[in-house]
Amino acid sequence: MTELLRAMPKVELHCHFDGSVPMDTVYELGEEIGLTKDYLSQIPVTGQCENLEDYLKSFDIILQVLQTKDHLQRAAYATIKRIASEGVKYLELRFAPLLHLEKGLTISEVIDSVIEGLLQATSDFDIQVNLIISAMRNQTDEMNLSLVDAIQELNSPELVGFDFAGPEPDGANDDIQHITNKMKDKDFHLTLHSGECGCAHNVVQAIKLGATRIGHGIAIADDPEVMKFVSENNVLLEVCPTSNYQTSGIKTLAAFPARTLMDANVKFSVSCDNRTVSDTSLINEYQILIDYHKFTIDELVQTNRDGIHASFANEAMKANLTEQLNEFHNKLNETH
Ligand SMILES: [Zn+2]
Repeated sequence: MTELLRAMPKVELHCHFDGSVPMDTVYELGEEIGLTKDYLSQIPVTGQCENLEDYLKSFDIILQVLQTKDHLQRAAYATIKRIASEGVKYLELRFAPLLHLEKGLTISEVIDSVIEGLLQATSDFDIQVNLIISAMRNQTDEMNLSLVDAIQELNSPELVGFDFAGPEPDGANDDIQHITNKMKDKDFHLTLHSGECGCAHNVVQAIKLGATRIGHGIAIADDPEVMKFVSENNVLLEVCPTSNYQTSGIKTLAAFPARTLMDANVKFSVSCDNRTVSDTSLINEYQILIDYHKFTIDELVQTNRDGIHASFANEAMKANLTEQLNEFHNKLNETH
């Protein structure tokens, strides 16, 4: 099954760069700045955390190795290389430039370094990659506005989306419209972490702000009205089962509301969130849906069709991805 899942041309829409740098690269970069293997080995989360804040502590460690141009570039290259090896053909990689300024880099230097690693990786491996910039909910309004100003100066075709990440209090989306509007004016697509550990109300607010996708959003599974609203607005959830379990968004993997969402006609696409922090792969996430929720290959193919449709890729990329997926699916149907 693993090889079949690897062969499926997949899209991944919710992947944090910092949480997904392969451990061997983290060790390599860490050694260069004097961090021990023992210390760095605390990054992967084992078992369940008490809450999202607890889960986010691993990032305090990993971010230390992502503060120079060289390290950002090498880490971006290694991350995309690993993701390509799982058979992901289109990736939207997200990161928060404000978290990489500790050693004096500017926001545009951070973004350019990641793009440099990205371009090297996409020329070496069979994968297409776009970027989503995350603002941080626990940063000041002033800092997030400085981020928005810096991005608006840049003109890189890889920059396609905008997000808010970090701890999610109830009402988290009530006061960010002045920021999201600026990004929408610049034709950035909007996806917001909402309903991850916070309430379904946050998801409704995100959609009202213009989000066409929601990071996680699983809180809506308890609220038929909100599921209806999400479905009617054709908004896609970016779901990440292992991460949701680890942050205590769900109590067990079996409690992941995949079937509830499907029954309510809420579309979703599957992602890892943070491969390294959560110690997972996209193949593993698919396997969880198969093992705990009886997903068929056809249903997993469908989540990719929905993912392509809701992705921030341009039409040519979408057509190419659909073609790859059709080819895989047709071949599979011929042999079965
Ligand atoms: Zn996330």
